[in-house]
Order: sequence, then C-alpha cells, then structure tokens
Amino acid sequence: MMNSMVTLKNFIGGEFVKSANDEQVNIINPANEEVVASSPRSGKADVDLAVRRAKEAFQSWRNTTPGERSAYLLELSARISADKDRLARFEMLNVGKPLSMAAGEIDIAVDNLRFFAGAARILEGKSAGEYLRGYTSMIRREPIGVVGQIVPWNYPLMMAVWKIAPALAAGNTVVLKPAELTPITALLMAEHCQGLLPDGVLNIVAGDGDPVGASISAHPDIDMVALTGSGRSGQHVASSASASFKRVHLELGGKAPVVVFDDADLQAVATTIRIMGLWNSGQECGAPCRIIASETVYSKLLTLLSEELGSVTFGDPGQDATVAMGPVISKQQQSRVHDFIDQSRSARILVGGGGSPRPTGFFVAPTLIADVSQSDRIVQNEVFGPVVTVQKFSSEAEALKLANDVPYGLAASVWTRDVARAHSAIRDLNFGTVWVNDHLPFVSEMPWGGFKQSGYGKDLSPYSMEDYTQVKHAMVKFG
Ligand code: NAD
Repeated sequence: MMNSMVTLKNFIGGEFVKSANDEQVNIINPANEEVVASSPRSGKADVDLAVRRAKEAFQSWRNTTPGERSAYLLELSARISADKDRLARFEMLNVGKPLSMAAGEIDIAVDNLRFFAGAARILEGKSAGEYLRGYTSMIRREPIGVVGQIVPWNYPLMMAVWKIAPALAAGNTVVLKPAELTPITALLMAEHCQGLLPDGVLNIVAGDGDPVGASISAHPDIDMVALTGSGRSGQHVASSASASFKRVHLELGGKAPVVVFDDADLQAVATTIRIMGLWNSGQECGAPCRIIASETVYSKLLTLLSEELGSVTFGDPGQDATVAMGPVISKQQQSRVHDFIDQSRSARILVGGGGSPRPTGFFVAPTLIADVSQSDRIVQNEVFGPVVTVQKFSSEAEALKLANDVPYGLAASVWTRDVARAHSAIRDLNFGTVWVNDHLPFVSEMPWGGFKQSGYGKDLSPYSMEDYTQVKHAMVKFG
C-alpha cells in the first residue's frame, strides 16, 4: 500500500527547495481525512526567487526553435505517461476521486502535452506582403515573457498541464502555483522536468492563494497571469494585475444548463446526468447541473433522473474500487454544498438531500432537486458538488431565456432530434461551449473557455497558444 507520506518541496530554478520560511502544511485525503503529504506553505520570497529564475531562463528559452520546444514537451509527455500509475494513485488520494477517473486525467494531460508539442510548430499568422508600396510587412508571434499560472484543486495535474503546455510551447517561462489543497502531482511532475527542461523554465511554488497567488498576480516582473478558479479569485487577480498592466487570462466558474426538448432521448439525458453531473463529485466547472426540461416530458424525466441518481454508489475509492463517486474536496466545501441544499427545502428534493452520509470523509450524497425557481440561490450560483436541479419550460423562447439567465457563460447542452432547433439553440445560447445531445466531452484541439462571468481567454487548442503570444508587426523598407 503506497500510502507512506511524501514530503514535498518547491521546484525553483531546476532544484527542489524548501520554502524560505521552512513552513509545511499537511495535505489531507478527503475520503478518510488521513494525511497524505506535507507541502511547503510558501511566501512572497519564494515567488520572488522563482520569478528571478524564470526571467533568467526566458532569455535562452525564447530563442529555442519550435521544434526544440516540441521535443521537450514530447519527452515530458512520455515521462508522465510512464509514471501514470503513481500519479493517478496520488491524485486519487489527494482529491478522493476513483482511480480510473484519475488515470483518465493523466491520459488527457499526456495527450495535451503531445498536442501542444505539435501546435508549437504550426503557429499561424497573416502572410508577409507589401501593404504599402516599397515596404514589406510581416507578423511575428512572440512569447510574452514570464507567465504566472494559478490552478484549482478539482483536476490538479490536468489543470496544471492545460496551463503550462501552451505557455511553454509558445516560448514563455512559467511560475506555477498549484492549489493549496492539492499540490502533490504538480510537484511530482517536476521530478520529470528536472534535468529535462533547462533550469528555471518551469518553476512551481506551493502555498495559499494569499500570499503565493497574490504575489504572482502583483509581481512587476511577471508579464501575464492565468488563473483557473473561482470568480472571487479572478477578481483579486485581475485587479492586482492591473497595477502593472499584465495580461490576464481567466477560466472561472460555470453553471451549465441542460435544455431538454420534448423530442429528446430522455434515457440518454438521465444517463449523462448521472455520469457527468456527478463526475468528480460534481466539482467540475462544466458540469450539467441545471436541467431545463419541456413541461411535456418533465415528469417522465424526473422519474428517470431519480432512478439514475438514486443508483449511484459512493465511498472511499481507496478502499472500494467499485464506487462511482468519492467525497468533495474539504470539510468547508462539504458545508458549502449542504448549505445550498438546506436553502432549497421549499423545492422538491427527490434524491439525497444533505446531512453527512458517512462518519469519516467529506461526503455529500448525490442530490436531485425539482421545481426550483430561476431566482433561487441554487440556480444562480455555482454549487460545485453532486447536486442537480430541474425546472420546466413551456416554449422554446422561455427555455433559452432561462438557460442564459445566470451570471456564468462557460458551457451548455441542448437535447433534441430537430436539426434546425439545435442550430438555433447553438446560436442563441450565450456560452463558450455548446454540446448537442451530449454534455462534457472535450478534446485538446478545441478551445475551452467562458463568456460573461466565466472569464476570458481559452485553454486547449491553438487559441490557447495564441493567448500566450504577442503579435509584433515588422515593416521593412526596400525601395
Ligand atoms: P479558488 O478560486 O478558491 O482557487 C483557485 C486558485 O486560486 C488556487 O490555487 C488558490 O490558491 C488561488 N487563489 C485564491 N485566492 C487568490 C488570490 N487572492 N490571488 C491569487 N490566487 C488566489 O478555486 P477552487 O475552489 O480551487 O476551484 C474551484 C473553482 O474553479 C470553481 O469556481 C470552478 O468553476 C473553477 N474552475 C474553472 C475551470 C474552468 O476551466 N473554467 C476549471 C476548473 C475549475
């Protein structure tokens, strides 16, 4: 049993180092509340050191060729792939997710690195040409410099890779901050970077949002800051970044609607909600958590959803490999989700409904709540737990109005067999990703990012790489 505690260190300038204050915090397994690791509680001094190393490294990293950077990323992907079992197991122990799910995330991270290894070599721009007689204009896409990247706890390694891969591929150097609750796999990944990437190209500093994240977003020598996290953290980052005019890239929360028309395959909807609505215990920014169903199929859908969500097994995935769902990440998150459920008592709770279902670990039972109103707190806010709400509509216009009427704009799905209706819904849903007859599949080649209060900037795809470059116009007089 590989549950011996690991002592983690920051990764700065190619070396594993203690934080300047030498403080460590215990990292807990949310499924059994046991300590899994101890990790640095770093401070501003550690960020300063990491930025210095990243700035020095940028001078030569920026001049590597795309082919060279591609080779580094491919080798890193191979090393991570070879270490998949260990990384997946630590992800399971740190987040409480089923091992198969954690292993799938490592596969996605590997694919992502491979994709950006390729994308590094095919950045596109306007063709060079004579737009003024006697002058040739050309466009260069150049790296931005030192990029600060701050990631959340729901998919620790995968989110870290979504950030570092496009940034490094584009020729930037990076200071990465993992979430304070889940620093393990990012720092284990650093073992594979040591001796591979030139020193200082990737630096990882573990610690709290404030001071580590706050020092990153305020640092005058960091040229761009990217955050995946809550809206609140996004506000902090954007406002402190404004002092030095650094570029800001924000992947924030979501509240994805699932619009179900009367011609939809209702069993497919219910099965997808069971799997994707409860994926990662509902701690998924694109989770299908807000069902808006035609009044003509509403009660049939409720019956199917009750059967599906009521059948979900949950528990400690480290003890029982067959459970579909683990705990939520922390006691604080558990109380937050239970608060949302408690405030929805006037609606109809069909499955679950709060209360700690197990004595140890931070569990929330899968919960299905029908007859919610559009203005309810649980409809307007991201819960980030295994909770699904259902409401009804009587016309297509009303369905789309309800779907759009939240502050978020990350992802949505529409369920219908009518092609014309699907296309008009794609157009009218104000979200960065819209699926038809499914919810949550994604690929490295296509962008992921929100509208409205879900943030700006894209992860994945060539669009993400472009976000990590700046465009230079060069004009040469030849006449
Ligand atoms: P969080 O905002 O609490 O933390 C995210 C990161 O920001 C952590 O590393 C944290 O330490 C850091 N942080 C906190 N305060 C900061 C500050 N003042 N300055 C700089 N950094 C700070 O979010 P979380 O609870 O870890 O993650 C859940 C949130 O992330 C949800 O809202 C979820 O929707 C969002 N999320 C979004 C996406 C996406 O792609 N859009 C993906 C995953 C998660």
